[in-house]
Amino acid sequence: MGVTRLEIDLKALKHNYTYLKSKLKKGVKMMAVVKAFGYGSDASEVAHYLEGLGVDYFAVAYSSEGVALRDAGIKTPILVLHPQPDNFHTIIERCLEPSLYSPRVFKAFNAFAKAASQKKYPVHLKFNTGLNRLGFWENDTDWILDQLKNTQAIKVRSLFSHLAASEDLSEKEFTISQIESFTKTATVLCDALEDTPFLHQSNTSAIINYPEAQFDLVRTGIGLYGYGNTSEEDAMLKPVATLKSVISQIHMIEPGESVGYNRAYRAPHYEKIATIPIGHSDGISRAYGNEVGYVTIHGKKAPIIGNVCMDMLMVCISGIECKEGDDVILFGKGASAVDVSSKINSISYEILTAVSQRIKRVILR
Ligand SMILES: *Cc1c(COP(=O)(O)O)cnc(C)c1O
Repeated sequence: MGVTRLEIDLKALKHNYTYLKSKLKKGVKMMAVVKAFGYGSDASEVAHYLEGLGVDYFAVAYSSEGVALRDAGIKTPILVLHPQPDNFHTIIERCLEPSLYSPRVFKAFNAFAKAASQKKYPVHLKFNTGLNRLGFWENDTDWILDQLKNTQAIKVRSLFSHLAASEDLSEKEFTISQIESFTKTATVLCDALEDTPFLHQSNTSAIINYPEAQFDLVRTGIGLYGYGNTSEEDAMLKPVATLKSVISQIHMIEPGESVGYNRAYRAPHYEKIATIPIGHSDGISRAYGNEVGYVTIHGKKAPIIGNVCMDMLMVCISGIECKEGDDVILFGKGASAVDVSSKINSISYEILTAVSQRIKRVILR
């Protein structure tokens, strides 16, 4: 298939799901994080497939992402990690479950649910245990219990927190302090609440590094898509998304000739170069240009030369046997997104989620 496309391998997704499930203690449930278009893949395809495998919950960042899943027919509960009061109407209308992360958002949702005559609408309370991004503080529990005593409109379905450095074992002490803080808060609230909420704090790396923090459910994103945060984790997982393109044209250039905008590349000798139809508007950052990044052609690395353009980039293919129309891999199977993104001091998460929506998604079943 000679066009730029993102191949999404559902067998790899199943492998990762099964592997991660095997790391869970008995009875621990799994929430699949499918925010940002399923980490750049295809959220509704991924969600449908995981729903078929029996995943317990989905999480998205914004309510619009939850709406897209409902539009695609997803019936599983969906946690919206980062809603705004402006979204509350949509949240209730589409049966999405908000994370309430501050007194302001709690009060606003409670009032909204009451006005909409809701009874025991499921909400999730988020606690800040050190990431300092979103969440109630440990000492907000009295205030929360007081508010809950006076409302029938909402019901706390879960309590959760997020770790700052679960992949970094040099921060073990800090992570353990986060787990202790969350355990303390959760104990206070669970003791006082009639219906016991479920608890969750782990992302992918914590599943493996901190099994004691699995609680009732884990929220896993990157692992499902085939990447961990260490080479050991990576080795057990399979990349779901592979970004492929093709060689549009090959040029032979002479010593001293330049390539691309601003003449940024100057050929030191006779060279064979190839033009690929993918550019910075597709998520291949300009930072990869000027021989920082590479593409993979028939298993060989071809450095990106000159400046990455909006819709194309040029690579040096001297010494690589290939022809116009041949496939090129940007990242995925055969070119780990971890290695590719490390060239610009980035992480797999960023390159995966940067793939533009104009690139066709091809589902491999
Ligand atoms: C994105 C996100 C996750 C998933 O993290 P991974 O490292 O991709 O497993 C879990 N919890 C929250 C709150 C998130 O924002």
